[in-house]
Amino acid sequence: MPLTPSKDVTVIGAGAAGLMCALTAAQRGRSVLLLDHAQTIGKKILISGGGRCNFTNLSVKAENYLSQNPHFCKSALSRFGPEAFIDMVERHKIPYYEKKSGQLFCSGRSSEILNMLLRECRIDQVEIKTNCRIEKIEKQGLFKLKTSLGQFHCESLVVATGGLSYAKIGASDFGYKLAKQFGLNVTSCRPALVSLKLDAPDLKKIDGLSGSATEVSVSCNGQTFHEAMLMTHKGLSGPAILQISNYWHPGETMQINLLPNMNLAESIAERRKQHPELRLKTLLAEQLPSRLAGQWLALIADNKALKQYSQREITTITQHFQQWTLIPSGTGGYRIAEVTAGGVDTDALSSKSFETKSVPGLYFIGEVLDVTGWLGGYNFQWAWSSGHCAGLSV
Ligand SMILES: Cc1cc2nc3c(=O)[nH]c(=O)nc-3n(C[C@H](O)[C@H](O)[C@H](O)COP(=O)(O)OP(=O)(O)OC[C@H]3O[C@@H](n4cnc5c(N)ncnc54)[C@H](O)[C@@H]3O)c2cc1C
Repeated sequence: MPLTPSKDVTVIGAGAAGLMCALTAAQRGRSVLLLDHAQTIGKKILISGGGRCNFTNLSVKAENYLSQNPHFCKSALSRFGPEAFIDMVERHKIPYYEKKSGQLFCSGRSSEILNMLLRECRIDQVEIKTNCRIEKIEKQGLFKLKTSLGQFHCESLVVATGGLSYAKIGASDFGYKLAKQFGLNVTSCRPALVSLKLDAPDLKKIDGLSGSATEVSVSCNGQTFHEAMLMTHKGLSGPAILQISNYWHPGETMQINLLPNMNLAESIAERRKQHPELRLKTLLAEQLPSRLAGQWLALIADNKALKQYSQREITTITQHFQQWTLIPSGTGGYRIAEVTAGGVDTDALSSKSFETKSVPGLYFIGEVLDVTGWLGGYNFQWAWSSGHCAGLSV
C-alpha cells in the first residue's frame, strides 16, 4: 500500500531554527509536525544571553560568520535579516534594548522569545511532540520516520538538531549522522565561542588574577577583536576570548595586547617629561586593574620611576604588555562552548532553500550546518534566517 504523509513537513529539532521553519511553513498552509527528543523545547533560547536572549544584531553581514563557503549565508541573511525578526518581536510587543554595538536583548526574559515562536506555531496548528526519540529514517518516495512515538511519513524533512555544545540540555550528533547516512559531507567540528585553557608557564602569569577582567585586543589567524577579557583559574574567557576562539585551532599561536588603547613606549616617553618620578605601575594602573598591572610588570621588570627605565627596558616592557604571544593548551570543550564550529557541508545545499541537492525533500538549517556566527546575536539570526528560508520552500 502506498504511504500517505502524516504531515506535509516534519521538522526534527524544536530549537530556534526548527521553530522558525515550522511556523513559516505552517503560515503557508503546509501541515507541520515538529519533533524533539527533549522534554522541554527551546532550551538554548531560554538560557541564552544570560537569560535575556541576545536574539539578533542590528548589523549582520557575511563577515560575521565562519564557514568553508563564506558566501553561503548571504542569501538567507538578506531575505530574512534582523529587521524581519525585530518586526516579529515588535508585533508581539516584546520589549528589548540594544546592549552594545547592535546587540539586541530582551528587556525581560528569554522565555518571551520562545513563547512568541510557540504562539505563532499554535496559530497555524504546528503539531509539536516532545520526548520523541527518532530511531530510524528512510526515504521511500516519502520520508519514513520510526520513532518512540510511532511512525510518521512526510514529503519534506527538515533537520534542525543544532550542534554539539551543551549536551546536558539536549544537544546531539543526530544531524551529522543523518547527513552522513544520506551521503552528505560533514566538515570537522570543534567547540567555538568558548573559553581557552592555558598551561604553565602562561597560567602562572595570571596566577591569583582569576575573576579580573580588562579590555584587550586579541588576534589570531588574521582576525582581531577588541573586547573584554576575563582571567579564570584555568585560563582566559570573556567576550574577546570567546570571539577569537572561533578562529583558533589547536596548536596555533595568538597575540594579546593588554593595553589596546595606547602605545606604552610612547606614553612612558610622554609622561616622564612632566612626571619623571611617576612609578610605572601607577601609569599602567590607569588602564589596567591595579593587581594585574603590578603582577604583570613584576614578571618582567621592577616598578621604578619612569625616568629610571632605559630605552631597551621600555621596549621589552612594551612588548610584554602589548604583544603577549601564547599558545592555548585547549578549549573548555563542548560542555561550555556556546556553539559548534563546522557541520553539514553547505556545498551539499541550496543557499536559497536549504534543500540538499542530492536528496530532494531533505533540508538542514541552523547550527547543524557549517555556518558559525560571532558572539552578539549572530547565531540566533542564522537560525531565524535559515529556518525562515527553508520554511518558504518545504
Ligand atoms: C549558553 C548559551 C548561550 C547562548 N546565547 C546566545 C545568544 O544570546 N545569542 C545568540 O545568537 N546565540 C546564542 N547561543 C547560540 C544559540 O543558542 C544557537 O546557535 C542556536 O540555538 C542554534 O539554533 P538551532 O535551532 O540550530 O539549534 P538548537 O537551538 O540547539 O536546537 C536544536 C534542537 O534539536 C533538538 N535535538 C537535538 N538532537 C535531537 C535528536 N536526536 N532528536 C530530536 N531532537 C533533537 C534539541 O533538543 C533542540 O531542541 C547560545 C548558546 C548557548 C549554549
